[in-house]
Amino acid sequence: MNQRILIVGNWKMHGTIGETLQRITVLHRDLEGEPAVDIVLAPPFTSLYSASIALQDVPMKLAAQNLHWESEGAYTGEVSGPFLKDVGCDYAIVGHSERRHCFGEDDETINKKVRSALAAELKTILCIGETAEERKAGKTFERLEGQLAKDLSELHIHDIEGLSLAYEPVWAIGTGQNATPEQVGEVHSWIRNYIAKTFDAPTANTMRLLYGGSVKKDNAATLLKVQHVDGLLVGGASLDPEEFMAIIQAATA
Ligand code: PEP
Repeated sequence: MNQRILIVGNWKMHGTIGETLQRITVLHRDLEGEPAVDIVLAPPFTSLYSASIALQDVPMKLAAQNLHWESEGAYTGEVSGPFLKDVGCDYAIVGHSERRHCFGEDDETINKKVRSALAAELKTILCIGETAEERKAGKTFERLEGQLAKDLSELHIHDIEGLSLAYEPVWAIGTGQNATPEQVGEVHSWIRNYIAKTFDAPTANTMRLLYGGSVKKDNAATLLKVQHVDGLLVGGASLDPEEFMAIIQAATA
């Protein structure tokens, strides 16, 4: 792994423009110099433009939480990759568990979104993860393999340079119950091997593998020490700038 650690704050459907700017102001105030890790913020769509202006001279990047797979067209209510690039996004999150479970996104849709995000030159964070039932039934790897095979279908080595994978067990998201370091280590090492087998070893070794699911300032350092963990995708805890900064500091240390 020769990439920088990546810390992403997913603010979900939280925050007006004013609240987004307030969080950015606090994060910027508390950032000491040039960070040694990549920091990415994913506010709601409505805040992206204001956030991109506020981040102009700040070493933090912007992510969209979702996108449509077409570049434009008669898709009322949707936003495309080129528009997100235009508004100042460098990253896009695709396949978040809430998109899969609350909005019925299947792997075919997610594959189209991954391909269109990468085509729009958005660094793409693809989320995968098993449910509690799948884990209990011993089907974790079957589920992850099913997701990866479909979500990355028709992609070739040269397409996935900008891709990171976030392992987010569904049972750990927003529950306060993070996966144990042993569980994370086992899955991340499996993912690294899967990418090496499906694409090649250099691609697998340089792809950033993030963990997400009830990351807090108190468990961030432990999770980041796990082999094959190259970053964190943080939901709830990223809404509090002081807590998120403590996670960034844990990553920097
Ligand atoms: C997430 O939104 O991706 C997430 C992991 O949420 P939380 O940190 O709140 O579990």
